[in-house]
Amino acid sequence: MVVGPDGQLPLPWLEAPLRQALQQQRGHALLLQAVPGMGALEFMMSLAQAWLCEAADAAPPCGHCGSCRLLQSGTHPDLHLLLPESQRAALGWAGGDDDTGESGKARKKPSRQIRIDEVRAAIDWVVQSSSRGRAKVLLLHPAEAMNLQAASALLKTLEEPPGQARLLLSTADEARLLPTVRSRCQRIRLAGPSPEQAGAWLAEQGMHDAPVLLAAAGGAPLEARELATAGIDANAWLALPKAVARGQAAALAGWPVPRAVDALQKLCHDAMALAVGGAPRYFAAQALPAGARLVPLCAWARSLSRVARHDEHPWNDGLLLEALVSEGRACWQEATTRGPRSGKALATLD
Ligand SMILES: [Zn+2]
Repeated sequence: MVVGPDGQLPLPWLEAPLRQALQQQRGHALLLQAVPGMGALEFMMSLAQAWLCEAADAAPPCGHCGSCRLLQSGTHPDLHLLLPESQRAALGWAGGDDDTGESGKARKKPSRQIRIDEVRAAIDWVVQSSSRGRAKVLLLHPAEAMNLQAASALLKTLEEPPGQARLLLSTADEARLLPTVRSRCQRIRLAGPSPEQAGAWLAEQGMHDAPVLLAAAGGAPLEARELATAGIDANAWLALPKAVARGQAAALAGWPVPRAVDALQKLCHDAMALAVGGAPRYFAAQALPAGARLVPLCAWARSLSRVARHDEHPWNDGLLLEALVSEGRACWQEATTRGPRSGKALATLD
């Protein structure tokens, strides 16, 4: 997550944007724009590390001064990281609620929001003087996880960060932020790696199916690695379109609902692209069954985005995926042969 004792950045493609940010950004409130899966959090941590690094030339951070060592052990007193509980849990960090096992069902889902009390605690922290005398850095990832009240509570601090404080916010979707938050920050845009650089990095991570999974992840290398970690390989990914066209929901057995819905949305996108003569983005063209019809694809896209928006749904996960796959299958069936089953699935989704 940060620059190690060997001086290596956590992700190789961060070096150029990090040097650029260190040269150009003098503001004390910054907003990082990055596509998910490109390493926004790693970039933020590395930039914070450079600001806090006690070596003479900290671009990039040295990796072995007292400050860098504290960051490596996750105990730096001048760094505060605000993440939604769900992300802390996903990263396996303290305070996260690992929602696994039989008892997990009864437990509350980790929050996907950054709450107002967490923002207030961070503001109280940031006004105190720096422990090591260099700076105080508050990282907030992602800014859109703040609700209206939490974002409003931060405005004054964003406008006038106290003394040595630097605030760094990230966003995957600037449009979801309050205009008053955006206008108080200088912007940095994090460019992702080239496909070649991403492919080489994934191969170094021991991934054999890098190009297929990189496409599956829309070019985002960290997401591609997550797919592989979740046990999804190139064969499983490329078999998905035909399985869905045959109505085989078993192809998604064991996938968490958000990941399955994301995969179906990508399939729906590619089927639509083919239907209008475009090129698919997430699946190899030969993996996609031909003949999907645009009108049912549009209806399927609406069902999928409705489910994607509401992570709290009253459905049994298996039934939900079966209904979505059944609706997908109908897109590949001739209009005349559509049976009552697909009609039922459509109705039950509303
Ligand atoms: Zn250092």
